[in-house]
Amino acid sequence: MEINQNNSAKPPRPEGQNGGPRGPRGGNRPQGGNGGGRPQGGGRGRGQQNGAGQNPDGEKRSGVSRGAAVRAMKRTQMDAQRVANQYLPAATDEKRRANFIDDSPRLKIIGLGGMDGGGSKNMMLVEYVNDAVIIDAGNDLGVDLPGINYGIADTAYMDSIKHKIRAYIITHGHLDHIGGLPHIVPKFPAPIYGSKFTIGRVEEIFENFGLPMPDGFELQTVTMNEDTHERLKIGEFYVELVRITHSIPGSTCVVLDTPVGRIINTGDFRFDPNPLDHERSDLERLAELGNEGVLALLSESTTVERMGRTPSESTIEQSFVDIMEQAPGRIFIGLFSTNMNRVQMIVNAAVHHGRKVAMDGRSMVSTLEMAVRNGFMKIPKGTFVPIASAASMKDEELVVVCTGSQGEPSSALQRMANGEHRHIKLKEQDTVILSSTPIPESGNDSLVGQMVDNLTKNGVHVFEARNHELDGVGPLHVSGHASRDEYADMINLTKPKFFIPIYGAYRVKQRHIDLAIEQGIPRANTVNALNGDVIALTPDKMEIIGQVPSGTILVDQTGAVVSNVVVKDRVLLAEEGLVAVVITVDKRNGNLLTSPDIISRGFIYMREQEEIMNGLRNEVRRAVQQRFKRVDLDRFKVELKDHMTHYLFEQTQRSPIVIPVVNVIGGKSEGGKPGQQANGNAAPAKTKTAEEIAAEQQERFQKMRERLLTQDARTD
Ligand SMILES: [Zn+2]
Repeated sequence: MEINQNNSAKPPRPEGQNGGPRGPRGGNRPQGGNGGGRPQGGGRGRGQQNGAGQNPDGEKRSGVSRGAAVRAMKRTQMDAQRVANQYLPAATDEKRRANFIDDSPRLKIIGLGGMDGGGSKNMMLVEYVNDAVIIDAGNDLGVDLPGINYGIADTAYMDSIKHKIRAYIITHGHLDHIGGLPHIVPKFPAPIYGSKFTIGRVEEIFENFGLPMPDGFELQTVTMNEDTHERLKIGEFYVELVRITHSIPGSTCVVLDTPVGRIINTGDFRFDPNPLDHERSDLERLAELGNEGVLALLSESTTVERMGRTPSESTIEQSFVDIMEQAPGRIFIGLFSTNMNRVQMIVNAAVHHGRKVAMDGRSMVSTLEMAVRNGFMKIPKGTFVPIASAASMKDEELVVVCTGSQGEPSSALQRMANGEHRHIKLKEQDTVILSSTPIPESGNDSLVGQMVDNLTKNGVHVFEARNHELDGVGPLHVSGHASRDEYADMINLTKPKFFIPIYGAYRVKQRHIDLAIEQGIPRANTVNALNGDVIALTPDKMEIIGQVPSGTILVDQTGAVVSNVVVKDRVLLAEEGLVAVVITVDKRNGNLLTSPDIISRGFIYMREQEEIMNGLRNEVRRAVQQRFKRVDLDRFKVELKDHMTHYLFEQTQRSPIVIPVVNVIGGKSEGGKPGQQANGNAAPAKTKTAEEIAAEQQERFQKMRERLLTQDARTD
């Protein structure tokens, strides 16, 4: 299960709007109308306050003070920065990095991701003298920033130990454990080890990756057999995979024997006594390893707070059979795209009822194809029908399995619900089963709620996992993660000397430590480490000896990396909008050659706020008249921007991004300092060659571009 982070910290919205489903992506600030409609006392009062002759800097102005406008602007920027800063790249502090070139014969374990904040982008680095392996390299799909698809762990530290990296070892094929690989492996090439299904998933995500791989890069994988306790040598390490149950086939614990001792990374797990694929957790092997001695257990911590034991996946099988028996028409089942055992369960129930199965959702179809290809599914011939022909089938003969159980806006189920799907529109008599629960702390609750509302309005009967008792059916979903007693079992089976909770929120990892202490691990032998903490191990000591750079790299829909600076601008744009003014000034006399052009996006609807825009135009005219020839161009632009910001704040109580574009026409190229020229301060003009002029123009253009790109930062 991919765990998302909570990103609720949004800058306060000035209006009492409810914000839509999810921040900037879902939120739509109403434009125009009431949106910008708070001209305090109207734009006309403005002219009286700042009559002719008064400095357009407006220090003496009454009403909204300049200070208030500046403060509001700063606040907006700080809010945006705070939102963007939830995901910062590693500090590229050389000193900090140099500290950690440490080749002492200690085993070092470093969580580059997954050690705080919800347990996503899971990634552990294990290093000993000249060898290092990476266990898991996931992505964080829960990043809720405009235009950002996910985050991956910052690998700045790997740069400094590049020569040591021998392998990537993957516990299982969920994206929060493999999603970072297509970004990271080409930069630090090494073979990827995993079980057959996991390697199938790895190949799948490399195939579907949006960006081309660098020239000469070749994906190297090593498929390991988790049933034969096969051990492979990697540098000074030996690796073994141990079968474990979770919500995706091929899940394993990673056992790493090192010169200092044995460590076990559990990966995500539960102990399902009766899994549908009959592939039980290899408890015997875990116990054996425990008896031989385990130096450190790195145990996932997702749901340590849940009491008892997680029910077996098999407890939900009958529920599907029951619902299919009663459903009057078509059945649609939404679930996590990689949960192939559950797909198998649904296929079995459908076959039992003489229904055909259609699949939809790109990620799900892709994983299914891989699973079928690798022999992980048993699908009777003729069971699957293409989604395109599903519409022409008899209602009572069809089951559609699809993505969308989290209410994701563009998922197959959502599109069917909205009538935007190419082949299927949901209708009365249809049955929808949501065979998952909203990912905790993801904000998906409300998305699911809205989707269920829509479906219900259309007369569709919806079975939600959480309401199964209300519906009088058996459970429709069980978690893929352990509950408290199973986490305790893992500790008791492996009997580690040291205990390191991983892959979870800090507070949950702390609970995990409490649990370990209850099982007899001395508190001194536990550590709640953060991302970047260097845990050093000798056979009888564990301590944190420092930090390496750690952080988040943000990635957009294309797979490209997006800078934090860009994200901050996007947040500002999303929250406040943008106003640009384009003016053309005659250099010689400082006259405006055209009326100022005002462009506004996402701020207020200009047509309905003509008064404000006319006011703004007048302000700009006045500023040009009074200031253009008195100060140099750079200074003038800053003043103009401040002045516009102030005026707009006064009129609307908002601080959009303001971009003044000043075209200066006439005269020779003087490095863009008309004021100096006009005031006679400029050095006597030399004759310049065409190349010099061209170079100068180029430089000016670059400067202007820089200013436009970094404008906000400059005026802080
Ligand atoms: Zn998982």
